[in-house]
Amino acid sequence: MVLKSLKYTLKTALTTTEVTRLYPEVMMELPANERGIHELDATTCIGCGSCARICPNSCIEMVPYRYGNPLKNRKMQFPQIDYGRCTFCGLCVDECPVSCLKMGKTTEIAGWDRKDIVYGPDRIAVKKFSEKEVAELEAEAKRQAEEKKKAAAAAAKEKAAKAKGKENKAKAKLGEGGEA
Ligand code: SF4
Ligand code: SF4
Repeated sequence: MVLKSLKYTLKTALTTTEVTRLYPEVMMELPANERGIHELDATTCIGCGSCARICPNSCIEMVPYRYGNPLKNRKMQFPQIDYGRCTFCGLCVDECPVSCLKMGKTTEIAGWDRKDIVYGPDRIAVKKFSEKEVAELEAEAKRQAEEKKKAAAAAAKEKAAKAKGKENKAKAKLGEGGEA
């Protein structure tokens, strides 16, 4: 009986596949379509909030973040994800109109506190602008806003001048009518 048990143990140890590993030193090999922590490209996110609206668990909140593109994301709002609620369904990724949100391959999420597993844009951004690039983009956004303001003022002035011209013409007509 003892021999039989030993034989079974040896056979199992030598022939079956590995069932335990020295985690975290030895990580499990993940499947190609594994859905892990999101990866955000902050340089292309337009801050539309579609990801937050579609999330079935309301775990996305739009929050301010500095290292995006103020020309595309005017309010500079980016997704923050609460991994205490996320089910990794991927709906937010499918909904993103500019494909700047992806499911990554990192699956380890741990913390001492509930708030430790709420990941802001700073933690999920895999691509972002540098301080210098942001400053340049901000200057360009400011220049464009000023140009827009000037164009609007010029259009309003032209509209007012046209209205005045019409008014003068009408008055002149009335004057001609009175003289006759
Ligand atoms: S993966 Fe699903 S549950 Fe998680 S944030 Fe996206 S939409 Fe919400
Ligand atoms: S990640 Fe995509 S869906 Fe979410 S705010 Fe940015 S652009 Fe919109």
